[in-house]
Amino acid sequence: HAKNCGKNNAKLYSSALTTQIMSHVKLEIGLRKALQNNELYLQYQPQIDVPSARLVGVEALLRWRHPEHGMISPDDFIPLAEETGLIVPIGAWVLRTACMQARAWHDECGRAVRVAVNLSARQFKDENLAQTVLAVLEETGLDPRLLELELTEGTLMDDAQATLATLEQLRAIGVYLSIDDFGTGYSSMNYLKRFNVRALKIDRSFISGLPQDSENAAITRAIIAMAHGLKLAVVAEGVETDEQLLLLKQFGCDMAQGYLLGQPSTEEVIGEMLMNTAATATR
Ligand code: C2E
Ligand code: MG
Ligand code: MG
Ligand code: MG
Repeated sequence: HAKNCGKNNAKLYSSALTTQIMSHVKLEIGLRKALQNNELYLQYQPQIDVPSARLVGVEALLRWRHPEHGMISPDDFIPLAEETGLIVPIGAWVLRTACMQARAWHDECGRAVRVAVNLSARQFKDENLAQTVLAVLEETGLDPRLLELELTEGTLMDDAQATLATLEQLRAIGVYLSIDDFGTGYSSMNYLKRFNVRALKIDRSFISGLPQDSENAAITRAIIAMAHGLKLAVVAEGVETDEQLLLLKQFGCDMAQGYLLGQPSTEEVIGEMLMNTAATATR
């Protein structure tokens, strides 16, 4: 690709680069104001217990509606939030909002639902993280076991003192920890035991080719067997077809999440799902 961009294109490229840097700066300025301007909000994606098809939890997913540029994907602004450290105040807002919502569902729908919140490695380097989590739980009155924190393999493998201390404090608080995008990073099974992880979330890239892709099927089956051997639950991410769900069921996968089972949705839509399943359960 680079070879095709001859000498004459060098200037073009550098000006494109300038625009890229410019928009990066603009994006950063925008992100600084996004929180106070109420441009950020959460959607919630259902997590289903595979054997019973019951809604057992939701994952909170951050959304940014930019006043001029419209929706900006988390994949585009989360890395920027991490670089700038803005993920710390934004992440605290996500935690508080998700916990308040989980408490409200419990009160309004009469049924407990676990809420999972994504945390980036940068948040673990902030020595106040555990304090923030504790304060949010106290403020909202949410049972710590109804809060799940999704970490990546990279976060667990980071042996910075602050990260280790925070993980220990979170264990003491009693929130659940799960490993997001499992299988895509570096991992150590020792860390899985040591930090009292409750669940592994198999990355979507392993699920998307199922059931045809025999290598990914083997990997998925092996992750489930290993997790169960360690007494960890398994969540499959990105389940889009009935065939994928059927295979995961045959493999003994505990939970599933994906467009087949529910899109990321508003709190009202999740509330209705909870009302319906609460009604079914008491019938
Ligand atoms: P993730 O935590 O792995 O979240 C799952 C992503 O997969 C979400 O993308 C979700 O919308 C998408 N997804 C769910 N089911 C399907 C499916 O069946 N097919 C396909 N193709 N995609 C599916 P989203 O919302 O764009 O978020 C992207 C990533 O941004 C997240 O990946 C997470 O790493 C990060 N993120 C989102 N919200 C937060 C947050 O509040 N804090 C932090 N630190 N990171 C966040
Ligand atoms: Mg996640
Ligand atoms: Mg994931
Ligand atoms: Mg991810």
